[in-house]
Amino acid sequence: MKRIKSLKFKVWVYLVIFASVILTLLWLFQIVFLQSYYQNMRSKVVLDSAEKIVSSYGKDEFFDTLELVTRQDDLSIFIINSENNLTYSIDQWDIRDKILPFSSIVQYRTQMINSSNRAIYNKVQEHTYTKSGKPTVNETLLFGTYIGTPTDIKAMIFVYASLDPIGSTVDILRSQLYRITFIVLVLAFVISFFISWQISRPITKITKSARQLGQGDYNIAFEGGGYGEVDELSKTLNYAAEEISKVDSMHRDLIASVSHDLRTPLTMIKAYAEMIRDISGDDANRRSEHIGVIIDEADRLGVLVSDILDMSRIESGSAYINPAPYDISIRLAELMHRFDALIERGGYQFEISIEPNITINADSVRIEQVMLNLINNAINYTGDDGRIIVKLYRTDKGVRFETSDTGDGIAAENIPLIWDKFYKVNTSHKRAVVGTGLGLYIVKNTLELHGFQYGVDSTQGKGSTFWFEATV
Ligand code: ADP
Repeated sequence: MKRIKSLKFKVWVYLVIFASVILTLLWLFQIVFLQSYYQNMRSKVVLDSAEKIVSSYGKDEFFDTLELVTRQDDLSIFIINSENNLTYSIDQWDIRDKILPFSSIVQYRTQMINSSNRAIYNKVQEHTYTKSGKPTVNETLLFGTYIGTPTDIKAMIFVYASLDPIGSTVDILRSQLYRITFIVLVLAFVISFFISWQISRPITKITKSARQLGQGDYNIAFEGGGYGEVDELSKTLNYAAEEISKVDSMHRDLIASVSHDLRTPLTMIKAYAEMIRDISGDDANRRSEHIGVIIDEADRLGVLVSDILDMSRIESGSAYINPAPYDISIRLAELMHRFDALIERGGYQFEISIEPNITINADSVRIEQVMLNLINNAINYTGDDGRIIVKLYRTDKGVRFETSDTGDGIAAENIPLIWDKFYKVNTSHKRAVVGTGLGLYIVKNTLELHGFQYGVDSTQGKGSTFWFEATV
């Protein structure tokens, strides 16, 4: 059943059927219809020639016309006068080694006069003799007419066209056709088998590879098949395999990274909770210190979870923005208050310069998240002096936001990588920071959704400046 349904088998069968149909048509036209086709052709020739002869009767070119039509069209022409004497004959029977008896012409003449028709036109069985005297029967088309009036016949013209040569032609054709049929059928079987094999082979190969892909072997390479459609298919499948592999490794990265990042704060929460239970429960100061750690760690978990949600939205293509004009100067100033506690605790020096009354068209929540991420990074990575510079100002092109720090900066070769998800430069953070490697990935995607320019200028050992430019 599977074999019968296979492409290979079908292509093979169709090609063989196609060859058989062509052969059948050939047989029909060459053998079956040939006789009637030939007869029709001859019939037309006889009538045309007769017309030419009759119309040139009595003119100078009469005999030339007779010669011409007989030779051209393989006709025999007999002209008899009113006394039944043969006045002219060109007898093509000669060529066939046959003699037409004159008596039969006389018989047709009588038939014509009696029928009171001006012409007769028949397919007749003509009795002829070979030159050696053997009688034969020939299928012949006969056309006869007369010049003059029925009472005063000047001449009678009979035009014969033998339908005979066709017989031998058919024989030759038939014997040739037997051979052709045999050869074509054998060739059709072999060639179509080869063609169907050629067509189906790459598909079978691709199916095999696809099965391997299904079993999780993402390194499989789909090969082309030597023709466009299959090449295209394998290219598409290669692309799909690559994408699936990417998604797969992303999932693996995600689980590895997320479980690691989740475990750290959870361990801390558990450890501090135990400490409160066992040690600091009664000591109000230490207890609130420990509870503070638990709250911080819980915040970390919150940030982590919302970053992962953002990432999954970006990955699935369902991240969208709701841009609307709003005063970014006010929002940034408000945002900066969140760091008041940090400044109070000491160790950080914020230099903030915000140009007032700047309105941009953007998703305020998302842009706030971007600015927060960049400022947090500056805090996390700035140098020992704890300097962080935040600027917002108008430029020729629009509005520029900048955060600068005095940290180690980023090596030039790492700059393109920091925007990737889960990318973290392999140095331990200066401070206990929330680090998922998702921050800049979310920043990049949000800014790209807005169509804003962004980037980082960093000098190793001196610090980095992250920036974006909003259009107004
Ligand atoms: P993370 O959670 O690790 O901060 P990010 O996506 O925000 O993740 O940043 C990716 C990496 O880029 C960081 O691990 C860090 O190495 C580098 N990076 C980001 N901001 C700065 C900065 N201001 N100075 C130096 N390196 C930075």
